[in-house]
Amino acid sequence: MVIVLEHGIKESDKKNLKEFLQSKGFKVKEIVGEEETIFGAVGIKPIDIREVEILPGVLRVIPITKPYKLASREFKKDDTVVNVGPVKIGGQRIVVMAGPCSVESREQIIQTARLVKESGAVILRGGAFKPRTSPYSFQGLGLKGIEYLKEASEITGMPVVTEIISTDHIGVFKEYVDIIQIGARNMQNFELLKRVGEIGKPVLLKRGLAATIQDLLMSAEYLLANGTDSVILCERGIRTFETYTRNTLDLSAIPVVKKLSHLPIIVDPSHGTGIRAKVPPMALAAVSAGADGIMVEVHPNPEKAFSDGPQSLYPEQFEKLMRDIEALAPVLKKEVYRLPEYTTETYTLKKREEGKPIEGGLLKVAFQGEKGAYSERAIHSYFQNEVEAIAFQSFRRVFDAVLDGSVDYGVIPLENSLAGSIHRNYDLLLQYPDIKIVGEKTIRIIHSLIGLPGADITDIKRVYSHPQGLAQCEGFLSAHPEWEQVPFYDTAGSVAFIAREGKRENAAIASSEAAGVYGMKVIKEGIENISQNYTRFAVIALEGRFKVVSPNKASFVISTMDKPGALYLTLKALADRQLNMKKLESRPFPGKPWEYMFYIDIDVPSEREIFDEAMEEIKKSTDYFRILGFYRV
Ligand code: PEP
Ligand code: MN
Repeated sequence: MVIVLEHGIKESDKKNLKEFLQSKGFKVKEIVGEEETIFGAVGIKPIDIREVEILPGVLRVIPITKPYKLASREFKKDDTVVNVGPVKIGGQRIVVMAGPCSVESREQIIQTARLVKESGAVILRGGAFKPRTSPYSFQGLGLKGIEYLKEASEITGMPVVTEIISTDHIGVFKEYVDIIQIGARNMQNFELLKRVGEIGKPVLLKRGLAATIQDLLMSAEYLLANGTDSVILCERGIRTFETYTRNTLDLSAIPVVKKLSHLPIIVDPSHGTGIRAKVPPMALAAVSAGADGIMVEVHPNPEKAFSDGPQSLYPEQFEKLMRDIEALAPVLKKEVYRLPEYTTETYTLKKREEGKPIEGGLLKVAFQGEKGAYSERAIHSYFQNEVEAIAFQSFRRVFDAVLDGSVDYGVIPLENSLAGSIHRNYDLLLQYPDIKIVGEKTIRIIHSLIGLPGADITDIKRVYSHPQGLAQCEGFLSAHPEWEQVPFYDTAGSVAFIAREGKRENAAIASSEAAGVYGMKVIKEGIENISQNYTRFAVIALEGRFKVVSPNKASFVISTMDKPGALYLTLKALADRQLNMKKLESRPFPGKPWEYMFYIDIDVPSEREIFDEAMEEIKKSTDYFRILGFYRV
């Protein structure tokens, strides 16, 4: 049962309540939620809930109707987020786990770890103990495999997930493994579940070959009841009469589990299909269906794999899949979780610079606008971990704050997919040569019609927003010609304004986050003309202050000599080296009428020399040349 505690319950009442429940044979867990604190109590013997309801400090008691208790949504309303080292699983994130089916050698696992990390995986998988259908198949390297996995993890910074098949290995898994996997064949090995649950570490629980969703949740209950709070469920296909694929991947399990349970669920399309070519489409489908992540088998040389070669992706296929997931994530309002590599570097540098402990203080990041602005959302989605977002009135102030070191980073919009470039920021990048682009983030812009709490669409007489906000919702606004449209300097600022004014006839167009910040109501979400509305933001910092790890994109600016073929020579230097240009934009040269600067974005290959060579050649044929930044996207 769930016992909702009164706000401000006395510690002594809490203690008495807990002792009372324990005396009746209940296990009690306290869960502090955003709105209320609850006790979750699970016991074997039935109890008359009125006995609990009358105790001091109890607001109400809700019986849990499902056979699984701790795993149920009734027990815990909010999504569980499982912390694994630097990685968080659950909530608005997509986590990608990748690696070979089996650890085959030290070299193979280290090589694969590096490859999958380079493409964006954040957790390394690899079986050391393999439960194989045939006793004559490769059974895994056992403890040696765990040792190699640990080494690959230390080199790459990726936590590892690997399967346990026997309680004999509990000690080793407790010490060396970050996420303990219970394989499909062991999903109902209840003794194993109990012992693994007791360790208290995160557990990845795979759905059994012939298990119902309820069976899966009952097995999760074993883990939770025995001590761990961190269970990640995994749909990996079930046996049906279909034989074309190795299993039938039950993607409908995702929304079902999401409704029934607070636990995160990921999908393994490799075992789910058994066929390499079917893995990427099913991975994308899983993410679209709401999975919190995917686990895929990748092998540097699948033809030579000791196990599951036919379902293992080539590294290039995995890289493409990661890019597709990245493109899909903003549509789902989610983030693909990245290892916070830049922050590791940053914190280390900060520590060196200031002589302060790494833990000391949050990073400060500047943005233009008011609280709740889209730029603020870009900050939180780029930095993922805790940072302090600081609002400034103008873009120039953001640059100044970065320059004088009062903030660590700035985040500025560069381009909107509907409205085009934000030229002001391109110009500022030129004016502040010590500031460089160190990162990039694209977010989807979803505009909402926002009014006062209690206001209705029929109350509205006036709508405030940035001219872009009004223009991008023109279709929706044209259905209400009687509304006056009032241009405002900022979208979130217009919400702050209507909140201050307090009139039900005023509405604003901004993000729903802005409505939340100012306690306003979202009257209608998604009112923009075209839903493919994205803004690309640049993360800027003082040059040399932070090191960008493995940059794969560069932005530079040139101005060409006034002679035939001048721009062509620059483009040729790129084309000759197969360097891929992502963007070319011209701007008037400040102070020189009818002369132009060209802003160019290109992909930086892993062989940096090719890029450096091209830049040297470009310098020779241009009047002006400046790198605006190297960064990783
Ligand atoms: C695995 O992930 O290596 C594995 C054996 O998967 P499953 O238990 O889903 O068959
Ligand atoms: Mn496998």
